Amino acid sequence: MQMVQDILIKPAGPDCNLVCTYCFYLKKKALFPESTRHRMSDDVLNFLIKGVMLDSGNPVSFGWQGGEPTLMGIKFFQKAIDCQIKYGRGQSVGNGLQTNGLLIDRDWAYFLEKYKFLVGLSLDGPKHIHNKYRLDHNGRGSWDKVVYSGKLLQDKGVAVNALTVVNDYSVQFPEEIYKFHKSGGFSYMQFIPCVETSPSDPEKAAYFSVSSIAYGKFLCKLFDLWRGDFKNGEPTTFIRLFDSLFYSYVGLVPPDCSLKQTCGNYVVVEHNGDVFSCDFFVEPKFKLGNVLHDNVSKMLNSKRQLYFGKLKRQLPEECQVCAWLPQCYGGCTKDRIRDKQDQGVNHFCSAVKTFLTHADPFYRRLADAWVQKQAAAAQNQSTMAHAAYPKIRRNSLCPCGSNKKFKKCCGTV
Ligand code: SF4
Ligand code: SF4
Repeated sequence: MQMVQDILIKPAGPDCNLVCTYCFYLKKKALFPESTRHRMSDDVLNFLIKGVMLDSGNPVSFGWQGGEPTLMGIKFFQKAIDCQIKYGRGQSVGNGLQTNGLLIDRDWAYFLEKYKFLVGLSLDGPKHIHNKYRLDHNGRGSWDKVVYSGKLLQDKGVAVNALTVVNDYSVQFPEEIYKFHKSGGFSYMQFIPCVETSPSDPEKAAYFSVSSIAYGKFLCKLFDLWRGDFKNGEPTTFIRLFDSLFYSYVGLVPPDCSLKQTCGNYVVVEHNGDVFSCDFFVEPKFKLGNVLHDNVSKMLNSKRQLYFGKLKRQLPEECQVCAWLPQCYGGCTKDRIRDKQDQGVNHFCSAVKTFLTHADPFYRRLADAWVQKQAAAAQNQSTMAHAAYPKIRRNSLCPCGSNKKFKKCCGTV
């Protein structure tokens, strides 16, 4: 049974003050036709936070996104924090806000800093790249305002990551985008490759989707830039995919769900309390219940969610015999179904192969160095435990925590 640790919340549903060309979520309005304005009520908020805080593991992380979550206003988020405090059982609580930055002002910056929100700012890079698709309702680009908001947040001491969609246009500019983020103080970056079904032809990918070949080149260039910025064997910039891959190479569970063997470790809550399996599967087939009537932990561990999680394991033949399976596990489930031409294989399969062929030797060296460092640290700890307890009886349990007798453990050092 898994504990609730990550929960993604869409308090304003699919409502947004931008209409980005590539957004997959705006069309989710069709799921909630009873109103044109979607806002989470105080009742739903209270039920949701109470349910999570009473049932969750420690730590617990709330990710607020949309649509555009800042449409809810600061007072709503203050109520959310008050509920977390009221119903908390001593857990460590993290809050993340994914925003397009348009409504961010000094009051928001003050609030976000006060409660230590981690902000993900949607910023696709320099102006000509960002304004290609990130448009307002009048067709105007949003870059000037987003860059202003980013600086405001940084000046107030808010931790901000840049979230960048890689599309058919931006894929040509990996260096420009990387250097832009770095010089703007965004050393934490996340890149999301775009593939959506064409609205005019369900048999094809939409024109703004990125091709696998182009994305492979993009990743290789980005990797070279990231690696070039290493100092003393440590990265100085942080790219979510690259960091997550390191976990896979040293045998740990990677934070990026697309690299895991199964999905289903978190759920998504819509503005009306409906709960779904994943951000990319907010659809009736993957509705798990509603926080007003159902327990969040039970929904996370429900048969339907387990079924969803295992979809990722239903790999095509190509993946089953692939040398990169332990690093890739077939990628994100949604990237196998958006473009019918892919016939069930991940849209970015060739990109992954190109990139891993390029990056594998470096990751292996990095993993070896890490393993050696861990072994040296463990040896050091054991020696220190021995030195710290010189008079320990040889038949008692070893103070290094190994659960063995001292004489058979550090006592032999
Ligand atoms: S479908 Fe993709 S985004 Fe959703 S949980 Fe699975 S890997 Fe993650
Ligand atoms: S690289 Fe391609 S074939 Fe290999 S596991 Fe990933 S998606 Fe499957």
